[in-house]
Amino acid sequence: MEHNSSNFIKSIIKEDLETGKHKEIITRFPPEPNGYLHIGHAKSICINFGLADEFNGRTNLRFDDTNPLKEDQEYVDAIKEDVKWLGFEWEELRFASDYFEEMYERAVLLIKKGKAYVDDLTAEEIREYRGTLTQPGKESPYRNRSIEENLDLFERMRNGEFENGQKVLRAKIDMSSPNINLRDPVIYRISHATHHNTGDKWCIYPMYAFAHPLEDAIENVTHSLCTVEFEDQRPLYNWVVEECEMESTPQQIEFGRLNVTNTVMSKRKLKQLVDEGFVDGWDDPRMPTISGLRRKGYTPEAIREFVKETGVSKGSGAVDEAMLEHFVREDLKLKAPRTMGVLRPLKVVITNYPEGQVEMLDAEINPEVPEMGMRQIPFSREIYIEQDDFMENPPNKYFRLFPGNEVRLKHAYFIKCEDVIKDENGHVVEIHCTYDPETKSGSGFTGRKVKGTLHWVDATNSIPAEFRLYEPLILDADKNTESEEEAEGKTFLDYVNKNSLEVLEGFIEPNMKDIVAHDKFQFFRHGYFNVDPKHSTAEKKVFNRIVSLKSSFKL
Ligand code: ATP
Ligand code: MG
Ligand code: MG
Repeated sequence: MEHNSSNFIKSIIKEDLETGKHKEIITRFPPEPNGYLHIGHAKSICINFGLADEFNGRTNLRFDDTNPLKEDQEYVDAIKEDVKWLGFEWEELRFASDYFEEMYERAVLLIKKGKAYVDDLTAEEIREYRGTLTQPGKESPYRNRSIEENLDLFERMRNGEFENGQKVLRAKIDMSSPNINLRDPVIYRISHATHHNTGDKWCIYPMYAFAHPLEDAIENVTHSLCTVEFEDQRPLYNWVVEECEMESTPQQIEFGRLNVTNTVMSKRKLKQLVDEGFVDGWDDPRMPTISGLRRKGYTPEAIREFVKETGVSKGSGAVDEAMLEHFVREDLKLKAPRTMGVLRPLKVVITNYPEGQVEMLDAEINPEVPEMGMRQIPFSREIYIEQDDFMENPPNKYFRLFPGNEVRLKHAYFIKCEDVIKDENGHVVEIHCTYDPETKSGSGFTGRKVKGTLHWVDATNSIPAEFRLYEPLILDADKNTESEEEAEGKTFLDYVNKNSLEVLEGFIEPNMKDIVAHDKFQFFRHGYFNVDPKHSTAEKKVFNRIVSLKSSFKL
């Protein structure tokens, strides 16, 4: 199914191919390796790779690694893994740092043309001199240095003669431009730091606004697709490409950021959650990262379909988390085997079932997909049901187990509650029931009807398992925009949900003894679960709940 089959970027590309402006399109996905990818990045990945695929073009994976202090090989590796896992193949793997020499040459060219100068103002002074939206900027006293002096100083910056922050290189554009980005932006800064790729070769690094257009042009990118916050930078992007005399002229086009409710979507904030121990790493199943969603049990198909449905408009509203959940349910409905697990066990003794006897019951693996075949489930005198499937004094319309009531056990028999056993504190510890052999599932019994159907597992022949249930990581999602936080003197950390993880010890069917990491199941009445790759072992099975069964979400 093709959603949003036309969008404005696609129209531009189509026209560029029809008019012969380009023979082939080249896009790139340009992450900075300063964190793990999140679901927002998935949108950019799907757009860049998706459009290139559709028009027989190419897409590079390019690491925008121009800030050595924040970048790390760990992030490079994780990003590569995530892009592949999402189902995309890059044409070439590039690093912005591979172009440092060429970028330096282009900066020298700007100086020679009188279009760049070395400035001695401090960062704070530069900010002050820049002016505001309503106030024009002020020229730096160093703005009119001679070309020779600038060339000499810039070379000495490169050679390490100055401290961090002592000098910068600025583009000489227009200090009174209504677009603040054009008021002589800084294009090189000094940073005596070891780079993950170039080591200690450089101590000056290009700024994003200067580096990015050059990277695109060097790679002959035709359409440089980015998020809307770069719209005001487009004139500068074009200025850099033109004044640096690049042969190729990429076109920057902006699209709306993807945001999802009940979470945060910035690497800086996600890193803070990791560093301050709110979560168990970047791949914690509560994180909106690709690796977190993968560990929770999301599939690449579900994420791609979700992103497709959110579309490619210029707007950046937050998408309901329920929509993401909808797509994983849809994807797993026919793929995941059905099974039963009891998360909060309560023992039931079937007093008229022969002691020591075990029978194997037949059950479909997935009734919607008969080809998946059958499984066997043991049944005996002692079983577990869920604690909340029993009530001693039930309210009206409670159709589960209570004294005197009869219910159906899925795939097994009708049982009737005859007695309740309590400990000295009055807590229910065991239920005594009788079963009716006539009512066996599949026997065609129609003698009487019951309203409740419960799941269960055999008590002596089941496997212990841990279940991890998740709630949103961030509460009050619409309140966690930066400006509102600041206004209330809070940070997003004040909205972290302290109860976002619940760990339960229960039991699963014994036919699941050989399950492995990332196997996915639909547990009857509980939802979809994934075998956790980090904590699940042969001895101890650990499941992450991906999503519950019910949803009010409608497309
Ligand atoms: P963050 O603010 O989360 O740190 P970023 O934009 O700094 O994200 P980059 O590594 O620079 O992260 O992003 C790589 C690409 O992914 C960029 O082109 C960026 O525009 C895009 N991207 C990042 N976040 C989103 C988002 N929420 N929705 C769509 N695209 C995004
Ligand atoms: Mg960025
Ligand atoms: Mg960022």
